[in-house]
Amino acid sequence: MSNLLNSAHYLLSAHNTRQLPADGGYEVAFAGRSNAGKSSALNALANHNALARVSKTPGRTQQLVFFEVRPERYLVDLPGYGYAKVPQDLQAHWQAFLDQYFRTREALRGLVVVMDIRHPLRDYDRQMLTYAVKRGLPAHALLTKADKLGRGQQGNAMQAVKKELFSAFGDTVSLQTFSAESRQGVEEARKVVADWLELTPKSTVDDNT
Ligand code: GDP
Repeated sequence: MSNLLNSAHYLLSAHNTRQLPADGGYEVAFAGRSNAGKSSALNALANHNALARVSKTPGRTQQLVFFEVRPERYLVDLPGYGYAKVPQDLQAHWQAFLDQYFRTREALRGLVVVMDIRHPLRDYDRQMLTYAVKRGLPAHALLTKADKLGRGQQGNAMQAVKKELFSAFGDTVSLQTFSAESRQGVEEARKVVADWLELTPKSTVDDNT
């Protein structure tokens, strides 16, 4: 299948609600603790070596970074920390911005949480999943850097995380193993995101005309 996400490109960074693109389309948010492998996952999904580099440039680490797949279809890179880790003066701003984004953003169709398969479900991850689940949105967990573990250990990690997700969030969170390095799970994750964005091949053709 062709990669429906490979046209993703940087659109804008929003530091407050006013700077968000018009709320008329569909978007999928990506969250992950710093160093979890979120940028590598975004790059792998979009098949773009440096797509998410922009999210790491100084000053952008405190913004929502929008990548446009096609008009009104966005991937949104969330900062890699919860508001608890933000310097004091930014805490109130961040809490309000993220709360409002998750509570009111009509375009938001789902949340992808990227977690290192060896360190899953830390406070930050639970905080982001809670935002999505509270809103009634589906979430999908990528257990990334799976190449660091053997198949047996991967299976054990999946089972353990599945059980915890179920007890904390019910059945609204799906999960898979992933590796930007070996490309394991890339197609599976693309399908989840493309489905949430309703990026069917037919509508891609329609919109390109
Ligand atoms: P971010 O801070 O969450 O955006 O994380 P990055 O994508 O920058 O990755 C953090 C580190 O983990 C980098 O050194 C990456 O090369 C490494 N990394 C990311 N994904 C993988 C993966 O799937 N497998 C392995 N082995 N390393 C990875």
